[in-house]
Amino acid sequence: MSKDYYIIPIFVPHLGCPHNCVFCNQRRITGKTDEMDENKAQHIIEEHLSTIPSRRKDVEIAFYGGSFTGIDLNLQERLLNVAFKYKKEGAVDRIRLSTRPDYIDKLRLDILKKYHVDIIELGVQSLDDEVLILSGRGHNKEDVYRASDLIKSYGFKLGLQMMIGLPGDNMEKSLLTGREIIKMNPFCVRIYPTLVIKDTYLKDLYEKGEYVPLSLEEAIDISSKLLVLFERNNIDVIRIGLQPTENMTTGKDVVAGPFHPAFRQLVESRLYRDFLEEYFKNFQKEDIKNKIITIETKERNISPMAGQKSSNIKYLKELYDFSNIKVYKKDIDSQIIIVHIEDHYDIIDKKDILKNYFRDIV
Ligand code: SF4
Repeated sequence: MSKDYYIIPIFVPHLGCPHNCVFCNQRRITGKTDEMDENKAQHIIEEHLSTIPSRRKDVEIAFYGGSFTGIDLNLQERLLNVAFKYKKEGAVDRIRLSTRPDYIDKLRLDILKKYHVDIIELGVQSLDDEVLILSGRGHNKEDVYRASDLIKSYGFKLGLQMMIGLPGDNMEKSLLTGREIIKMNPFCVRIYPTLVIKDTYLKDLYEKGEYVPLSLEEAIDISSKLLVLFERNNIDVIRIGLQPTENMTTGKDVVAGPFHPAFRQLVESRLYRDFLEEYFKNFQKEDIKNKIITIETKERNISPMAGQKSSNIKYLKELYDFSNIKVYKKDIDSQIIIVHIEDHYDIIDKKDILKNYFRDIV
């Protein structure tokens, strides 16, 4: 999905969080170590607003980084009051925040309603209780169902965040979490592969050999299957992979795990590769051997279709002994792909791809 809104991120690191999820060192993940208050929040908002070229796009204030509804109620209200002021003035369109499922109750939601918060994202991480226990989350799956229902009953938009590769997790459990999330019908979803970050309990487990992170390949595989599940159910996946901080890209914070600065692109690329592989299975290998394949698609699909360093093209060429695969831009709907096998061609809609292929991912 193209992001057609402008985000003003306000990081509220670890404030109010008494928990110690094994994977979390909130200060390192957000890359911000200062505590937040209303003056700093106001400064950040002003700074961003002054750089937004025009109001062609929606503007959103997003409180990220911690468990917003777990922080001191007074500070919550002071921060929300600043955000609401800009919303009332029409300078911003939406207020978003993220929190834990067990920090959702009527008292907190009444406050969020008072300040016209629009979207509440819950860190679900997993809907397998064993994974939640091994990850030190301090809540169970029932907390997620209860909080989600309550958030929706207040009329807020619900966002759900899940992680893959947590201790005790596997492909099956991740897909189960994905399916359970679909039943809750959220407005949007984020998928985060677990990384081993410095100064976390997970790092100790990793060094003792008690935790093995997903490889990049495994993380791409699981994430691409989840992406199919969510897209098939019209649920917007707004992020796959952590937002890379400078320390992450320079390798200072990530000790191990499937980190890649363009992780989503890798996942989308894998989806195209899997789809094309499935599509060519409709033909006898002998019949399409040595043929020239031409694919036409919207310009922005070309790069994920070809894969990083043309990896998808190389993979398919080798698998089916094609003489060549060429990908061209065509001014068509971004959901449409036209595949030519020399004289034969098929016009394929991405929606049909999601419905008719990947049938193993129910
Ligand atoms: S609840 Fe959130 S902020 Fe607190 S330790 Fe867990 S992941 Fe970190």
